[in-house]
Amino acid sequence: MKTAIIGGGAAGMMAAAFCENAEVTLFERNEKTGKKLYITGKGRCNLTNNCALYEFYPNIVNGQKFMISALTAFPPQELMAFLGKYGLRMKTERGNRVFPVSDKSSDVIKTLVRAAESSGTEIKLNTRVISVKKENGIFIVATDCGEYKFDNVIVATGGVSYSSTGSTGDGYGIARSFGHTVSEPRPGLCAIELEDDVRSLQGLSLKNVRATVKAGGKEFTEFGEMLFTESGVSGPVILTLSSYVNRLPLSGAALSIDFKPALSPETLDERLSSDFGEMRNKDLANILTSLLPKAVIPRVLSQSGVSPHVKGNSVTREMRFALGYCVKHLKFIVRSLADINTAIITSGGVSLKEINPSTMESKLVEGLYFAGEVLDVDALTGGFNLGCAFATGRAAGIAAGRNKE
Ligand SMILES: Cc1cc2nc3c(=O)[nH]c(=O)nc-3n(C[C@H](O)[C@H](O)[C@H](O)COP(=O)(O)OP(=O)(O)OC[C@H]3O[C@@H](n4cnc5c(N)ncnc54)[C@H](O)[C@@H]3O)c2cc1C
Repeated sequence: MKTAIIGGGAAGMMAAAFCENAEVTLFERNEKTGKKLYITGKGRCNLTNNCALYEFYPNIVNGQKFMISALTAFPPQELMAFLGKYGLRMKTERGNRVFPVSDKSSDVIKTLVRAAESSGTEIKLNTRVISVKKENGIFIVATDCGEYKFDNVIVATGGVSYSSTGSTGDGYGIARSFGHTVSEPRPGLCAIELEDDVRSLQGLSLKNVRATVKAGGKEFTEFGEMLFTESGVSGPVILTLSSYVNRLPLSGAALSIDFKPALSPETLDERLSSDFGEMRNKDLANILTSLLPKAVIPRVLSQSGVSPHVKGNSVTREMRFALGYCVKHLKFIVRSLADINTAIITSGGVSLKEINPSTMESKLVEGLYFAGEVLDVDALTGGFNLGCAFATGRAAGIAAGRNKE
C-alpha cells in the first residue's frame, strides 16, 4: 500500500505519524516542513487547548459537529501524550493554552518530524504537487519533480492565509478536480477595516471593553481587549468577531464599542452627573478624561452632538444622556474584513458534507482524504485550530493506513 501526503504542516505530519502498514511519501513544496507552524503562537506554538471536549467544541466556529468524531478519538490530552512520547515537553498556560516548555515552535516541528519519520515516512522537500488524477484505481500524483503512483492520497495543503508559508490553496484545486465542492475561502481571526478615519486612534489599546458587530441582521458581542490600527481595529475580541461575521454580508455592518460595560446606563449617568457637578467650570473635553481614553473623547463628543467647550455646569440632561449613550455605543462603520493573506485562519474550504468525519475520506472518491485547514473547519484562538488540524490529520493517517489492507 502506497500513500501520498500532500503538505508537511500540522495535519500532514500528524497523518504521516499515524499512517501505518503503508509506504508513505510526504510531499512538501518548501525547503522544510512546518513553515506555518513555526510562526504560530508568536513563535511559541499554542498547539492545543488542554480543556474537556465539551469546552473545546464551542470554540469551533465552522465544523463543530463534523469534528466530534476525530476529536473524541484524539482529544487534547491524547495529543499531548502522543507528542510527549516523542520527546516534547509541554506546559499549560492561562485559558488552558498548551505550549512547548521551551517556548519554541521549532521544538513542536522537530517532534512531528520525528514522529512522522519513525513511522517510516519519506519526506520529499522542495516538491510541489501540481495535480492528482485517478486512473484504474491508482492515483497519479504529478509534481514539479516528476510523477508518482499511489493507492491513497491525503491532501493536507492548508488554506490560503499567510501564503508565504506555502499555503496557496492548491488543495482546493485538487478537491475540485475530483468533483468536490469548496466553499469560498474567507478570512477568519483577522482585523476589521473601518470606513471611519481612525488614524487619530491608531495604537490605542483598550481593555475590558465590549465590542458588538451587527451584520446581515445578526449581532455578535465579545468582551475583552482590542486595539485600533491605522485603518480599523484588531486584537482578541475583534479576531473572534471577524470569524463570526465572515460569512455574512458586510455592507451596512457596524461596530459598536461599550467603553464601560461594567456600568449600567443608570450608573453611568449618575457617574457623569457627579463628575459634571464636581468639575463645574471645566470644559467637557477635559472632564471626560477621567472616564475615557483621551483619544476617543473627540469622537464621543461629535457622535453625541455635544460641544467639547460646554462647561460642566452647563450640561443639560439631554446632553448627559447623549454622552452616556455614546460611551456605551460608540459607533463605527465596517468596511470589510482584512485581506485573507493576513488572516490567522482560512474559513471555508472542502465541503464537510462530502467527507466522512471519522476517516476524513472523500465520499466521492475512494482512497482520497482531506485533513487540516483545507477542510471547511475553523476555530477561535487558544490552540483550537491546531487541535483540529492534528485530530483530522491523525484520523486520515489511520484510515489511509488501513484502506485496502
Ligand atoms: C500567524 C499565525 C499564528 C497562528 N497561531 C496559531 C496558534 O498558536 N494555535 C493554533 O491552534 N493555530 C494557530 N494558527 C493556525 C494554524 O497555524 C493552522 O490552523 C494550521 O497550521 C493548519 O495546519 P495545516 O497542516 O492544515 O496547514 P499548514 O500548516 O498551512 O500546512 C500546509 C502545508 O502544505 C504545503 N503545501 C501546500 N500546497 C502544496 C503543494 N501543492 N505541494 C506540496 N506541499 C504543499 C505548505 O507548504 C504547508 O507546509 C496560526 C496561524 C497563523 C497564520
